[in-house]
Amino acid sequence: MAKSILNHAEKILERLCSWFSSNPVEDFYLVQLKRTTFGQYAPFPLVAFPRDDIAKEMDGEKWQQLCGMLGHEIAHFCFGAVLESSPQVQWLSEGFAQYMSLLILEEFYGTYILKTKLYDYIESLQKVEQSEQAPLCNIPIDHPHQPMLVRRKGALVLHMLRQEIGKDGFLSLLKALINRYQGELITTETFNRFCEDKLDVIDVSGFFECYMMAIQPYGWDHVAEEVPFVKAVMFDLFETLISEFDIEYPGIEEAGKALCIDGDASKQIYRSFQIDRYTGKIGGFAAAIRRVVEILGEHVPPEKIRLLYQEHRQAFAEHLSNIDPRI
Ligand SMILES: [Zn+2]
Repeated sequence: MAKSILNHAEKILERLCSWFSSNPVEDFYLVQLKRTTFGQYAPFPLVAFPRDDIAKEMDGEKWQQLCGMLGHEIAHFCFGAVLESSPQVQWLSEGFAQYMSLLILEEFYGTYILKTKLYDYIESLQKVEQSEQAPLCNIPIDHPHQPMLVRRKGALVLHMLRQEIGKDGFLSLLKALINRYQGELITTETFNRFCEDKLDVIDVSGFFECYMMAIQPYGWDHVAEEVPFVKAVMFDLFETLISEFDIEYPGIEEAGKALCIDGDASKQIYRSFQIDRYTGKIGGFAAAIRRVVEILGEHVPPEKIRLLYQEHRQAFAEHLSNIDPRI
């Protein structure tokens, strides 16, 4: 397993090197720490991480997590070691490393994972009142939400910049930034001026004022472009899906019991006009029940059937109300 972990790390570094046309290290080392959990870091040229980041049994999800972690930490070789920044503006190291890890995940696992992570970031940001946040360019290290804000808000802002200038434009911008400032300490102001020099297609000062100097809320729409995501679900045979999997679902047998008519016979009759139901010749559950009652020669008050029909609709409505609000 150690070999394939090293392989992953190598591929990540290779990808970063190809994006930025520079190789920050000749050799680097992965250090699995004795402690089991909490915190990874990248004291150049090491990547240190707790023991449990590598599980005994690595499944697909664990590989993905490990890849994200390595992506973040290896990106620190560029954003933290090559481009230095002050601890007071950690978004320049943590935010960049975090977004790089998302780009790595996107590269290796597809755009869906990037989209899902960004959505999670928006959700976690929305949990912090705007009055408790701070502008990205100035989040004190002792700010209660500093670790989350510098990483997640930083990654979101960088993603928005990428949306403005396209992925290739964004990677070229970072490549030029690294080439220009390697070995130097950069600030948000440096990055702002550099973007103003390089980008004439967008209103750079407006972008920086809005998202870095001020506290701007982020909505799903801001990150929803470009990357495909589930926007709608069409249900075919929805009733079948519910009746197969929802054990609470009131089907024909329950209807028979509720109406005090023969359950087994009702079921058989109900099934016998399956094609008529599917092709719309018998319109809906209430009409089907009325036919069953009629064939059995029973007498059932119409309001009882109406009530049953309402319960039946309610069972569907509950499933529809549980659909992810993003869809
Ligand atoms: Zn970090």
